[in-house]
Amino acid sequence: MRKCEVAVLGLGLMGGAALGALLDAGVDALGFDPVAAGSDRGSSHGSCRIFRRFNFENPNYTSLSDEAHAGWIRLQAESGQTVLTETPILEAGRPGSAMVASSRAAAIAKGRPDPKMTAAVANKEFPAFNLPDDWDVVVQDGAAILHTATVMKLMRARARDRVIPERASFTPRHDGVSIRTASEEFFAERAILALGPWLGRALPQLAALLNVTRQAVGWFKPASPDTVVSGRFPIFILDRGPDDIVYGFPDFEQRGVKAAPHNHGPVVGPDDWGPQASDAELRPIGEALAALVPDAAGPIIDRDVCLYTNTAPADIRLDAGEEFIIDRWPESRLIVCSACSGHGAKFAPAIGQRLARLATDPSYQAEPFFQLSRYSQFA
Ligand SMILES: Cc1cc2nc3c(=O)[nH]c(=O)nc-3n(C[C@H](O)[C@H](O)[C@H](O)COP(=O)(O)OP(=O)(O)OC[C@H]3O[C@@H](n4cnc5c(N)ncnc54)[C@H](O)[C@@H]3O)c2cc1C
Repeated sequence: MRKCEVAVLGLGLMGGAALGALLDAGVDALGFDPVAAGSDRGSSHGSCRIFRRFNFENPNYTSLSDEAHAGWIRLQAESGQTVLTETPILEAGRPGSAMVASSRAAAIAKGRPDPKMTAAVANKEFPAFNLPDDWDVVVQDGAAILHTATVMKLMRARARDRVIPERASFTPRHDGVSIRTASEEFFAERAILALGPWLGRALPQLAALLNVTRQAVGWFKPASPDTVVSGRFPIFILDRGPDDIVYGFPDFEQRGVKAAPHNHGPVVGPDDWGPQASDAELRPIGEALAALVPDAAGPIIDRDVCLYTNTAPADIRLDAGEEFIIDRWPESRLIVCSACSGHGAKFAPAIGQRLARLATDPSYQAEPFFQLSRYSQFA
């Protein structure tokens, strides 16, 4: 039986970052994942995600973003590959938008100049937009296109022969964790479960707190390609009302403007990656672009499906839900990670460090708002 100090089950962005942090620290770690980098499965798949420094979800995330940014820059310097493309971000919404107000407040709290802009000025600065005059708008730097396909490949390449490309099952023991793949048996002193949408299946006690949703993503052929290219056009997030947020990227890969809803799609299971995103699912996005970003609107030229894993609101240390779980699993040598809800990718280096420390430093606890004890059944 092969042995290691720490096993990492699941090598999406979170498990991949955890494995990298462990190996960098000289820990005898192994990672397990049947899905290769570049596949179209797993919540980390696809070419890009938005990196934001000032997060409207929660001011707690600003320092996590700063820490993660340093990690991305380090990976970029070490690999010589482009991991982040710094790009301004425009966040806009109907008058009184809580999303815009929170993003603005997060920047001001960090001592940044007020990022508020009138819609008229934003439309002039970025002529692809047609934002209504009365909308609230902030435009900030500190955002970036995070090249996740590149990151996934780099993470796997760095871990090399420490990756077992197989599905793994686990059995907690008093002194560690037995891990079994189709071809081999392993024993790890500790195991990190970074299983993305599959986490609730692996730990049924967690399933009631995790809601997996289907998210349709489209690439739109821009009506005016020149005004939506990287360098002339920002990343954008548009708050059109309750549960109606649309985000998008500049056309940085000559594939059109990638745009998608940030509201939750239908609840599905972790293996439900098909069928492909339909015209009906993408129609509201096309309509939003036509109304608010007409230069980016046009026929759908590519499409994808990804899964969000959304955490339930906490009932002890109250939160509104969608926060991450990064903690030890009670009475075991397991560490659990659920960091999605559609906004986890940007934090992967910082989350990987936390997972590695939870596995190797008994005195370490992740921040209280990541802990399971915010839910009464784990208090
Ligand atoms: C459409 C979409 C848009 C998003 N946009 C953004 C964004 O703009 N900015 C942002 O910051 N975040 C964004 N996110 C969120 C971000 O992508 C996720 O937070 C992140 O990818 C979650 O990574 P993960 O490692 O937890 O999960 P995953 O990437 O799903 O990794 C889990 C891994 O576990 C493996 N696995 C499953 N079962 C087993 C097993 N038994 N044994 C071994 N391995 C197993 C799977 O193969 C998979 O590779 C978005 C997500 C989606 C879906």
